[in-house]
Order: sequence, then C-alpha cells, then structure tokens
Amino acid sequence: MSATLKSIEDPVTQLSGVGEQRAAALKTLGIQTIADLLEYFPFRYDDMAAKDLSKVTEGEKITLKGTVANEPTVVRFGRKKSRLNFRLLIGHDVVGVTFFNQPWLDKQLVIGQETAVYGKWDATRKSLSGMKLITSSDKAAFGAIYSTNKHIRQSTIAQLVKQAYEAYQDVIYTVLPAKLIEKYRLLDRRTMIHDLHFPKDPEAAKAARRTAVFEEFFLFELRLQMMRAKDHQAAGISIEYDNEALKDFIKTLPFELTNAQKKVVNEICADLKRPLHMNRLLQGDVGSGKTIVAAIVMYAAITAGYQTALMAPTEILAEQHARNLANIFKDLPINIVLLTGSTKAKARREALKHIASGEVNLIIGTHALISDDVVYHQLGLAIIDEQHRFGVNQRQALRQKGQHPDILAMTATPIPRTLQITAYGEMDVSIIDELPAGRKPIITRWIHSNQVEAAMDFIRTQLAAGQQAYVVTPLIEESEALDVKNAEAIYDHLSENFAPDYRVGLLHGRLKNEDKEAVMNAFKADDYDVLVSTTVIEVGVDVPNATVMLIFDADRFGLAQLHQLRGRVGRGSVASTCILVADPKTQDGIARMQVMTDTNDGFLLAQKDLELRGSGDLLGTKQSGVPDFRVGDPVAQIKILQIAQQEAIALVDQPNWQTQPDNRELAGYEQSELKRHSTLD
Ligand code: ADP
Ligand code: MG
Repeated sequence: MSATLKSIEDPVTQLSGVGEQRAAALKTLGIQTIADLLEYFPFRYDDMAAKDLSKVTEGEKITLKGTVANEPTVVRFGRKKSRLNFRLLIGHDVVGVTFFNQPWLDKQLVIGQETAVYGKWDATRKSLSGMKLITSSDKAAFGAIYSTNKHIRQSTIAQLVKQAYEAYQDVIYTVLPAKLIEKYRLLDRRTMIHDLHFPKDPEAAKAARRTAVFEEFFLFELRLQMMRAKDHQAAGISIEYDNEALKDFIKTLPFELTNAQKKVVNEICADLKRPLHMNRLLQGDVGSGKTIVAAIVMYAAITAGYQTALMAPTEILAEQHARNLANIFKDLPINIVLLTGSTKAKARREALKHIASGEVNLIIGTHALISDDVVYHQLGLAIIDEQHRFGVNQRQALRQKGQHPDILAMTATPIPRTLQITAYGEMDVSIIDELPAGRKPIITRWIHSNQVEAAMDFIRTQLAAGQQAYVVTPLIEESEALDVKNAEAIYDHLSENFAPDYRVGLLHGRLKNEDKEAVMNAFKADDYDVLVSTTVIEVGVDVPNATVMLIFDADRFGLAQLHQLRGRVGRGSVASTCILVADPKTQDGIARMQVMTDTNDGFLLAQKDLELRGSGDLLGTKQSGVPDFRVGDPVAQIKILQIAQQEAIALVDQPNWQTQPDNRELAGYEQSELKRHSTLD
C-alpha cells in the first residue's frame, strides 16, 4: 500500500498482527477502522506518581513505580507453575512483588533499575500481586488504561493503538474549524489523539480530553442542527384545518381544557398550518391529559383531508386508545382502524387495503404502523405516544412514511433540561405543566414488607367504598417467566384473601393479547376490584375509579418508572394512595423511597433519578436516542454541551457554511458520518 493512499478509514486489518480473529475481537469493542481505534480512548490513567501506600486500600488495582531492590527469585512447582518474587523500593518503603507463572520476567528485572508494576494490593502483607510489568521500553503506553472485554487484552489494545498512531499520524486531520479551536483554546486533532493515548503527564491528558469532549459534543450537535435545518427547509405540508369544526368538537368534550392544554393545542395547530415539517415533543406529567390533545390535533388534520396515525408502545395501550377515541369521535365521520402485531392476517390485509385507499382516516397501532407494507394514502400527522418507549429510529421511520407527515411525540417521562438537548435536540418542545382541576394529589407511603397485611386491610376499606386497586408485582429483570410466576403466586394469595367479597384479576406479559384485553376491559368495567399486574400496566392505562396502588419491591424500580406506575391512580376526583413496599438495603434505595413519598412532581423526580442513577437508567439509553457518548458526560459536562450546541447552531445558521474553507474538513466529516448513521440498526 502506498503511503499516500493511507486513510484513517482503513480497516484495522491493515495493522500487523491483526488477522480475521483479532479483527473480530476488536469489533466486539466497536472498533473496525483505524479511526475507531484511535478514537478508542483510555477510560483512565494509572497515576504513575509514587502512591502514598498508606492510602491504598486492600484489593485495589494500582501501578507502583520504584526501583528493583534485589535479584528476583523464581520458585517452580508442578510442571508449569512458578512464582517470581522481588522487592521494589518506593521512596523509603519496600514492597514485595509476586508474579505467578511468568518466570521469564526475571530477565527484565535489573537491580537498581526504575520499573513499574501493575497489580493488586495486599494490604496485610504489604505486597503486590503483579499482573503486568511495565518496562521502560513501554513508556509510550505508560498510564493509559483501556476498557476491554474477554475477547481482547488490554495490552493488545495499547500496542495496536501505538502501532496505528505511528503509521497513521500523518493522515489524522482536524475536523473542528480553526476559529473554534482558537476561541476555546483547544488542541488540533493529532495532538489530542496523541495526548489522550500517550500523555506525558496528567495535565496533558486533561487538556486532550477537554478537546475530545468538545469535539464529540460539537459533532453530535452539528448533526442534530443539520437535521433540524433540513427539516425546516424541506417543504412540509400545510394542513389547512377547519377551525370552526375544531371549536365545535372541543365544545362536545365532557370537560373544559386546562390552560396548559389550550396552549399546547395552539402551538401544535400553528405548526400544522405552517408549510414546514413539524417535529415536536409534547411533555406532560402522567395524568396531565395528553390523549385529548392528541385527539384534537388529529381531528384538525382530518378536517383538512389528511390521514393521521397514533403509535403506542404496547398493544394494551393501542387498544385503549382505539376504544377511547372511537368514543370521543363517535358522532364524527371518522373511520378508525387498529393495527398491531396480533392483528390476524385477514383483518390485516383488509386494514392495509383501507389505509392505502384512504378509506380510514385514523390509524391506531403499535410499531406495526411503521412496517414496510403499511402504505398510507395521505398521512399528514403522526403521533407517537409514550415516546420514551421508542427509539429515534422508530421516530424517523414514521417520518419517512408517505409525504413525510408532521410528527408529534408525546412523553410523560419528564426530561430534565440537561438531557433534553441531547435526547431531543432537534425537536421543538411543548409542555403541559398543569393537571386538570379537581385532582386530589396522590398520597404516597413507604412501608416495609412486614407491614403488608396492614396495607391489605387498608385496601379492603377502599374496596368497601367502591374503589378499585392495583397490585404491582416485583420486577424481575432477568426473566419474564419468573416475573409471571411471581405475579401468579401473589394473585393466588390475594384471590383467596379477598374472596368472596372481592374479585381479583391477573395481568401479565405472557397472556395472549385477547386475554390481556379481556382482563383490562373487565377491570375498567369494574368486574374486578383488584388487578394484580406486572409492569405491563406501566404506561398510559386509564381507569379513574382505581384509587389505590400497592407496589411490591418498589426499590427495584427507577424513580421515573415508579412515577409512571403511580400515575395509574389519582385520575379521578377521589383521593388516591400509592403504597410502596420495600426493604431497601442501600443508601440509594432508601433515598429513592424517600423522594417518592416527598414529591409528586415528575420533573423533580426525573432530576433526582438522573442524580441517583445516571441518564441511561432514566431514559433507557438505547430507547431514548441519547447517544452513548464516548468521552463526554452530558450531565456532568452540560456547560460544554451547551456551548457546543450554540456553536453548532451559529454555524448551521450561516448559509453556505459547508463551502467555507475553514469548515471544509468538518463538512466532509459530517457527510461520511451521516452516511454511517443513516443505516438504521
Ligand atoms: P396522560 O397525559 O397521562 O396520557 P390522559 O390523557 O390519559 O393522561 O388523561 C388522564 C385523565 O384525565 C383521563 O381520564 C382524561 O379523560 C382526563 N382529562 C384530560 N383532560 C382533562 C381536563 N381538561 N379536565 C378533566 N379531565 C381531563
Ligand atoms: Mg397517556
């Protein structure tokens, strides 16, 4: 290969020592190209400065640097086993070092020579069980520690990174515009990569990381802002809805809209009318009444002759919406069809035909709505309920349907502002910040498992007053089968307990869809007094007469999820109670139970969840579309993220930014990245 043809996008197999097997191992870490490898940054550095040994704790993995104090001794036992011992002089301390089964190391240990050993500290014996000897020839790899897995060794990665850097350093180009580098005192890319892998001291590593974080955030934001700009430029549809018909419809509703609902309806309707693509996120706490907002704007689109679609994350919820909307629209010329994964083949064929011909104008379903064979007649508006349960890819797939419909994504998981700009940076946001009047706040109590009987007595008094109750069974993430078994056991126990006065139903994920629907309907119709359920009731289900919820092992859930679950009660005008049963063993568990009893404010809880558990847990990284940042932390480094966002917006707002010389590398880089990201996984 001639040197001039070298590219940072070359496959790793260009490196010596990387054959098919090693390439496969690297791929498990997401490394396929030289660029991937060079951007595989260490997650920490071993502090090479002599450690204060009194501060090292038992079992800690550390690197100790000192001089070899004596001739190493090797003791062999058995056929292949050996133990090598020597002493390391660190300042005034002498530390014993042992290596097992690496007798050849003795040749590399010379009395009086500086050396560093990585290993596990044994505090009682004041000795180190050596794992890796870092010789002076290794200097370049000094300090960098890479995260790895069972397929490939740490030292192999370090060695390959070094090889890649040496061979490719001259083709590393800087993507950030020079202006930004200057303005924020950043490093050029080659220096950044060098100093991240082979820093001469902690300061160099820190400066390099700062550049890497900025670059990562900036490129991410740039992609979002380009998407947004493209959306805004593309000729969207202008949905000329019938305002009078809409007003008349709103008058037929059994309640007055809250001010917050009116405000967001106006925001969305204004978007519909604009000949631009709408890409809007509607946030509103559980019970804030998002469904009716969806109904109103869908009706608006229908009055303009368009089809609309409503996509929900579960079949239960899709069915509930279908029933609910059929009722809301019963006096209007609206044809509804329900399409889910369990729609039978014949019904499905019919449905697809009617969707394609435009005979139906309101299509409700699960992700079945985005499957390839669903062809819309004239889809003007698509709404995604419980958006946080879907991924960005699904949002985009819906977007690609028909004439690129306007998109409204709804979520009850309040997203702290810190995460908003990462998860939904390309969207406009509407917020319902008010609950319908007359709601009594939900009282939340935390009890220990030995108080469950008393809680059951309390539930009995509620049932006697004509109310209904949910009992949520423990979440067993590892196994749905266990989950179900648990639910069945609790169901058996409660059925016996409440018989003959009260009837108990059971709902879980393994039931057939018809059965699920039957159970839900029966509960809605008050044929069951108590519904024992796994977390399948988490999202959206609406039974106003249910006023008590008991959640077993509540500390296994995240705050956002508990809040969602709790949101199933408190939907009517009777005061509701949520009982959390938990015996948390950790500080974090206790803190979560306390904050749940302290507040009903979803935004506050989301913020707490973020602090206690990190963003992944709050939104479910995969599902939410919050990217896995490699170096940046969007929560801790929110300031940098905000600056990166401002700069990205400023750049994209300039016409022709892509042809300006200062941005040439950037534009090229984004093109290739866009190509990479457009293949949906
Ligand atoms: P969510 O925002 O959690 O999806 P829903 O749309 O399910 O909430 O609404 C919760 C309940 O509040 C429903 O029973 C709905 O009929 C009722 N509701 C919605 N808006 C109002 C309102 N303005 N006044 C009174 N009740 C309302
Ligand atoms: Mg809802």
